[in-house]
Amino acid sequence: MADRYQQFTRTPVGKFLVPKLGLPNPAPLRRYRPGRPPLDGPALFGAAPGGRLAKTVQAQLSDAGLEVLTEPLEDGRYGALVFDATGITDPKQLREMYLFFHPVIRKVGASGRVLVLGTPPELADGRERIAQRALEGFVRSVGKELKRGATAQLVYVAAGAEEAAESTLRFVLSAKSAFVDAQVIRVGTQGVPDAPAPSNWEKPLEGKVALVTGASRGIGAAIAEVLARDGAHVVALDIPAQGADLSRVANQIGGSALQLDITAADAPEKLAAYLKERHDGVDIVVHNAGITRDKTLGNLTEGGWDAVLTVNLAAQLAVNDKLLADKVLRGGGRIIGVSSIAGIAGNVGQTNYATSKAGVIGMVHEGAPRLAEYGGTINAVAPGFIETQMTAAVPLFIREAGRRLSSLGQGGLPVDVAETIAWYANPASAAVNGNVVRVCGQALLGA
Ligand code: NAD
Repeated sequence: MADRYQQFTRTPVGKFLVPKLGLPNPAPLRRYRPGRPPLDGPALFGAAPGGRLAKTVQAQLSDAGLEVLTEPLEDGRYGALVFDATGITDPKQLREMYLFFHPVIRKVGASGRVLVLGTPPELADGRERIAQRALEGFVRSVGKELKRGATAQLVYVAAGAEEAAESTLRFVLSAKSAFVDAQVIRVGTQGVPDAPAPSNWEKPLEGKVALVTGASRGIGAAIAEVLARDGAHVVALDIPAQGADLSRVANQIGGSALQLDITAADAPEKLAAYLKERHDGVDIVVHNAGITRDKTLGNLTEGGWDAVLTVNLAAQLAVNDKLLADKVLRGGGRIIGVSSIAGIAGNVGQTNYATSKAGVIGMVHEGAPRLAEYGGTINAVAPGFIETQMTAAVPLFIREAGRRLSSLGQGGLPVDVAETIAWYANPASAAVNGNVVRVCGQALLGA
């Protein structure tokens, strides 16, 4: 599973050869460790005149443990550059972006962050709508230009959702978002429910029960670990054939193991009964279980089509319907889907898989208004190339292309997907609803 090429670039021979031959040089990404500051270096904050976020955001960043500057440094590097672009109501004012970022962009440090804050274009009119939409092109290009593992994001904050954006700022401006690059995140577009800050940001899920499907290995095991680290009791679910690995994961995190095939006709019923009896409900449902049966369409059997659509989509819809109908998902509950960049861009040999994963995006869009009524949210992650058993089995050449053809030039780790899911699950993320965020290091595929 190791990325041998990246290891080679860190050896004395690699350090000599890589720049000489102009080879890709993927930077080691800074990842979360408890007790460490969120980023290396201060955050420089700027705003277009008339911006509405300055006060709240500066206070939120200081609370998160970041040093916030409003004047450029004489010397040294920034952990983050943060720009409030909500004051831009006409395309002519877009030059404010240039004026702020141009003098300082080269001073973004390793694994640094560029963050642009805007107003959701669909909630604006006239020229403001055009100007706010334009921010996307800026951020996606900056993501491609940044070096040394630095990333860029655009967060659209609806009017009235300023306070509710804190969990998102903390995620984006920390090592937890290491492999999330050039994403557009919306906060408050489906309404702004009350989202009190957790009493302890290190344990935001204390007292919560989380279900994670496909949790015996790979990305699912990492999700279970991270949700448990954040304080949740995790019900780790997988098929009976994975029973031994499943117990190991559940034991390690002090959770429970539930052997169940989610495609069985009575699975929603059994699952609802289990969660109701043992835990009196569930707060967080992560639909991570997924399979591939890759064949080009002409070679694909009916069974290969059905299996993938059933595990990756139909079974999840059936579980959601049951948990919502019987109110097993508690008020304020979270449903989180795992899509894929193949579901956005399509992929050769994956008509079945990409259909199912695009369906997961549909599930988020359809479900968001319903969940909002219920006081909950539904969102999805769309991973790119993640180092797991699934991708270790990919032929070498395709695997290398998957790793390198992205702005960060490497694959992500299961923990990167898990951290993104933990941000959605955070009670303070109640206004983050209907999002699909790629965890792909800005893969060129379907960018
Ligand atoms: P994996 O194959 O290692 O793990 C998937 C788990 O789901 C397995 O433990 C499997 O037993 C379980 N599962 C399968 N069918 C099930 C069923 N019917 N009932 C219960 N459990 C079932 O895969 P992974 O790489 O960890 O991927 C996890 C998710 O992430 C999947 O949805 C996958 O499509 C998605 N994803 C992965 C990548 C990647 O690069 N690895 C990229 C994009 C999306």
